[in-house]
Amino acid sequence: MFDLGPRHREIQQLARSVAERVEEFADEADAAVEVHEGVAEVLRDSGLARQVVPAAYGGESDVLDPLAIAVVREALMYTSAHLDSLFGMQGVGSYSLTVGGTEELKREWLPRVARLEAIAGLALTEPDIGSDLRGVTTTIQATAAGVRVDGRKSFITNGGAADFYCVLGREGEGYSMVLVPADAPGLTVRRGDDLIAPHILGELHFDGVEVPENHRLGVPGKAFSLMLQTLAVFRVTVAGSAVGLAQAALDEALRHARNRKQFGRPLLELGAVSQSLALSWSEVETARAITYRAAALAKSDPLGHLDYSSIAKVSATEAAGRVVDRSVQTMGRFGLVRGSKIERLYRNARPLRIYEGATEVLLDSLARRLAKQRG
Ligand SMILES: Cc1cc2nc3c(=O)[nH]c(=O)nc-3n(C[C@H](O)[C@H](O)[C@H](O)COP(=O)(O)OP(=O)(O)OC[C@H]3O[C@@H](n4cnc5c(N)ncnc54)[C@H](O)[C@@H]3O)c2cc1C
Repeated sequence: MFDLGPRHREIQQLARSVAERVEEFADEADAAVEVHEGVAEVLRDSGLARQVVPAAYGGESDVLDPLAIAVVREALMYTSAHLDSLFGMQGVGSYSLTVGGTEELKREWLPRVARLEAIAGLALTEPDIGSDLRGVTTTIQATAAGVRVDGRKSFITNGGAADFYCVLGREGEGYSMVLVPADAPGLTVRRGDDLIAPHILGELHFDGVEVPENHRLGVPGKAFSLMLQTLAVFRVTVAGSAVGLAQAALDEALRHARNRKQFGRPLLELGAVSQSLALSWSEVETARAITYRAAALAKSDPLGHLDYSSIAKVSATEAAGRVVDRSVQTMGRFGLVRGSKIERLYRNARPLRIYEGATEVLLDSLARRLAKQRG
């Protein structure tokens, strides 16, 4: 059985203590569509964001450790999706800078990302392009003064709150990435749609935005793989978030089933209820095991183990959906009350199966890999 070593347990303890400090305003934070300053302050004080930046730039370890990040996300998501997103996006939003940025640019931004003094964003999705990112229409062009970006990006986490965006666009026949500071002339951001699970979202419009040449990330025309590397490292950490949410839903249902009596005994002693809780427990443990294993594998060779990260993401996010639904059922009418924790968990579970690779998209690529294997 895969278990955490002493270093990861220490990180887990720290993350749990951060989550406990946020608990009292978690409801309010998870309703926010702007940065919740109370949550940001607790996260900043904890130093946890150092986990998503390499040591050379003020971070924790020489190479990012997806298992540490997944364990942190599990602990944070147990309490608050806003907290989890604020932490996770510092990594998702800055990783292409970490891997493909110039030394100067990394020194300018990464230490601030690690201290949560600068907020990061990753801009891939467009109004008409979601899963099929090879279809992006945003353009990136070399100019005499540097690099020019034109186009629209949609559903961007931290849109409007971020200090910079790592942007994917088309350049000639290939794809490039470029870092655009939020205050670059020509970049305008408007608030995004309101979701069932509130989230900081922005719609970005790049209208002749120019940045210096050293703001390029990766090799011009060949940066699609840079974007894939981000997904390879961080997809499995979304599985961590899903495990945390599922555990929280199970704990809510269990508490309720212990305390509420019907037919003269606690719900927990009614066969169907206890079976349902036991099934949820087994799904949470299974999801946790594959998540930790896939995250450990992703440290040495993230792209080489992308299949495992995808399997972990599908397993854990789908399990979270089932567990939270079962928990609502166990809680009967009390599971339907607006403003209750279980209602918040129910809503927060839903986006997990869509962002950073929708379940069907991941299953499609896993199926193609299976078909290529020799029988
Ligand atoms: C809360 C939230 C935060 C987000 N943050 C960001 C962000 O920070 N940056 C960013 O760039 N984007 C972000 N996104 C966008 C997200 O990445 C996209 O929603 C996701 O890529 C799916 O694209 P889509 O929603 O356009 O769905 P579509 O691509 O239109 O797909 C719809 C459905 O069709 C099915 N489907 C699609 N393709 C296939 C396939 N090949 N095989 C089988 N089935 C398929 C799936 O069921 C899928 O759910 C965010 C989204 C959400 C909900």
